[in-house]
Amino acid sequence: MSITCPDCQAPLVAQNGLAHCETCNKDLPLEPRCPECHKPLQVLKACGAVDYFCQNGHGLISKKRVEFVPV
Ligand SMILES: [Zn+2]
Ligand SMILES: [Zn+2]
Repeated sequence: MSITCPDCQAPLVAQNGLAHCETCNKDLPLEPRCPECHKPLQVLKACGAVDYFCQNGHGLISKKRVEFVPV
């Protein structure tokens, strides 16, 4: 998984659904996508944990497998 800043193309590190660009000094919101069908995932928040659910038949997606794309 690699995310690059849309403004300066710097490689970004995703954290908690955000990617911070130090060069531009801004946070980019990320959209979670299914690694199988690349459709946006439903975010389920429970007890401080976040789960990602694919509504296209792929079920719960572990956080490590989620694709994050800048929106
Ligand atoms: Zn940037
Ligand atoms: Zn899916």
